[in-house]
Amino acid sequence: MNYLSEAFIALLFLPFLLFSEETDESRLGDMSEFVSYAQGNLPVILLAPHGGNVKPEGMPVMPRQTGRDVGTAELAKAISDRLMFTDAQGVKRRPHLIINHLHRSFVEPNRSWSDNLKRGWLDTSGKPAGPHQGAERLHRAFHASAASAVKKVESEYKTGVLLDLHGLSLSRKLDMYGYLLRASDLHQRKNLDRTATDAELAQRLRERSSIRTAASGKKSAREITELVRGSQSLASLVDRAYRDLYPDLRNSEDGQAGRPATPSARFPNPKGSETPDHTRTYFNGAYDIFIHSSRQAECRVDAIQIELTADARNTKVQRARFARCMARALRQFLRIHYGLKMDPPGKPASTEVQRVPRDE
Ligand SMILES: [Zn+2]
Repeated sequence: MNYLSEAFIALLFLPFLLFSEETDESRLGDMSEFVSYAQGNLPVILLAPHGGNVKPEGMPVMPRQTGRDVGTAELAKAISDRLMFTDAQGVKRRPHLIINHLHRSFVEPNRSWSDNLKRGWLDTSGKPAGPHQGAERLHRAFHASAASAVKKVESEYKTGVLLDLHGLSLSRKLDMYGYLLRASDLHQRKNLDRTATDAELAQRLRERSSIRTAASGKKSAREITELVRGSQSLASLVDRAYRDLYPDLRNSEDGQAGRPATPSARFPNPKGSETPDHTRTYFNGAYDIFIHSSRQAECRVDAIQIELTADARNTKVQRARFARCMARALRQFLRIHYGLKMDPPGKPASTEVQRVPRDE
């Protein structure tokens, strides 16, 4: 909640805050204050929908509640801090940062509101409770913030990247990067229509994905799958940043340096037999990256859902490491695939190009 102390936060929600009255009922009803939006001016949007830990007393909970994504709110803030810099004109540059501080047992931002209604709520005595007005306001405030950030990025840069940050359960071994493409889409033609031409396959993959903008110049299915798991995919760039910056840090999965993730150059198939988690579900993205991305015809911002194992987010040291590597990888990713630069001054463009991928 300490992020709320920053003055620029919640300005957007004045209309919601005006509903605030002195009665207990309406205080419980207005939960939009638990969404913080630090408006940015870089082409990056960071979302942490499941990191919140605020539990208002007496608020109805959703049945079959799952645990929160521990550390993801703090991690989003750490990545934001790492990307921040003052440009040559003295303007402070920062990503857009949107955090839901309410515990996820009360509302599910990464599903549509109608899906929330289907799940329903239980009151404190365990009886079904009606749709909760506060939960609805929070859901609305979270997505109004994301939509506003997307619009601002589009107007300032034409395009950009939104990252939706999540946490995996303790048993998982690999980070997962989701682009709304299915594991079978990434299995070279295996489960795809064999009669389709390569150009037709490419078009289908492009239109199904949340990275249509980066994929727009790609002619073949292979080029598009390279974007999500090739050596210059975001997961592979993060993996490489760990190897460069923390060469002595060995991961528990294969004892190698780096940060294993799927899909990536190291683990290209999320459900392939060579991938340690192959029998498990591949989380390829949900409502957040569906609704706030180029998956929508009118949107130019690409979006990626990132599911992280606990060792990226549990402690301050782990978060600082991941934030450093993600910030470096994101700068490279935006430069390579969008021609967008987010580098602090003092690094002339001519040497920047030579310094890829070592820009720190
Ligand atoms: Zn989550």
